[in-house]
Amino acid sequence: MRVLVVGGGIAGVSVAAALAPHAAVTLVETEGSLAYHTTGRSAALYFENYGTPATRPLSRASLGYLRDPPPVLVDAPLLAPRGALTVAAADGLDRLEATYVEGTALGTTVERLTAEEAVSLCPALRPGSVAAALWEPEAADIDVAGLHQSIVRAGRGGGVEILTGTELAGAQRDGSGWTARMGDTVWRGDVIVNAAGAWGDVVAGRCGVEPVGLIPMRRTAFMVPGEPAWAAWPMVVEVGHRWYFKPDGTQLLCSPAEENACEPCDPRPAEIDVALAIDRINQATTLAIRTVRSSWTGLRTFAADRTMVIGPDADCPDFVWLVGQGGTGIQTAPAAGRLAAALALDRPIPGDLVDAGIDVAALSPSRFAGNRRDATA
Ligand SMILES: Cc1cc2nc3c(=O)[nH]c(=O)nc-3n(C[C@H](O)[C@H](O)[C@H](O)COP(=O)(O)OP(=O)(O)OC[C@H]3O[C@@H](n4cnc5c(N)ncnc54)[C@H](O)[C@@H]3O)c2cc1C
Repeated sequence: MRVLVVGGGIAGVSVAAALAPHAAVTLVETEGSLAYHTTGRSAALYFENYGTPATRPLSRASLGYLRDPPPVLVDAPLLAPRGALTVAAADGLDRLEATYVEGTALGTTVERLTAEEAVSLCPALRPGSVAAALWEPEAADIDVAGLHQSIVRAGRGGGVEILTGTELAGAQRDGSGWTARMGDTVWRGDVIVNAAGAWGDVVAGRCGVEPVGLIPMRRTAFMVPGEPAWAAWPMVVEVGHRWYFKPDGTQLLCSPAEENACEPCDPRPAEIDVALAIDRINQATTLAIRTVRSSWTGLRTFAADRTMVIGPDADCPDFVWLVGQGGTGIQTAPAAGRLAAALALDRPIPGDLVDAGIDVAALSPSRFAGNRRDATA
């Protein structure tokens, strides 16, 4: 079988590597380097108590690889302890409790903390701005570049052909399979896997497949100067996701956690988003942020129900979707790639993914069949 994977972010390389033992795989990436778009712009956290219920088992099922990758593929551990502190002011207590209930119901270790306990974990929090908090001890920093590189190594070792600077322009299907055009190159084969991130619906359109109604959403992050003592702080996130910050070496990575819909593009930070985050974080803490060292914006892309879209298209089964990663595309990638590969190859779902409780129907693009127009409404 010959498979074309479109997209060289974390999703594309993950499915390509998982396909490699069973198929001749070509991966195409528009940009001159892999991971240029959203994958290279994340906050790099494993945060299990986050995302829709259908997506969360993909995080848990990825932990094995993240904690214990094949040594030959990595130069250093992929995870480092961090912990996540979700804080709520008095008007956020109901939401905090709902977050606690959801996390524990889905099997994540989450503890309730008092305001004093929260401040002891991050002394920059103003006591008056925190009424209570949640603690997720297993939240961890992910070495995203190391993770991506490890999977690229696995893929290349398995014979995956990687073509950067190569954009899928269009593809047609006939009785003998797909013919795809990328510049002067023509590829012929059996299955196309769409791992094009924010461009997922664009790629579908170029292949004559109905879109599923993906919504790219801007999210900005920026670095501010910190102090060595802050490096041990956890990730601190406001329960309504109005801001977060986490140590990154001696700097703090901050975000307004905005979700502003836009077209697929190479986004740049807007001053107003950075200013909003500084204002909100300064109100909740004693950090008194004034200086921004660097900033960036990436597109977190969601389906209308915010659950990832993984599996063969309902009308065109030789077109396989791996999109809608939203805010958890890094931490879910090892499992999502293996799931997409099994579905593309029509092979059994790996036992560990079944044991993790992955609900193939809930993730399937078939959930949009017949009402795709509704999905984009
Ligand atoms: C600020 C921020 C913080 C985040 N924090 C976290 C976090 O802490 N943990 C987490 O798990 N996730 C996080 N995320 C989300 C995560 O980064 C994404 O879910 C993930 O990177 C999506 O990966 P992807 O491979 O689907 O998309 P991308 O990395 O965008 O890759 C898609 C690729 O497809 C290519 N492409 C598109 N069209 C074509 C074409 N026609 N031909 C060839 N190539 C094409 C694009 O050039 C692109 O490189 C965060 C995101 C942002 C922006």
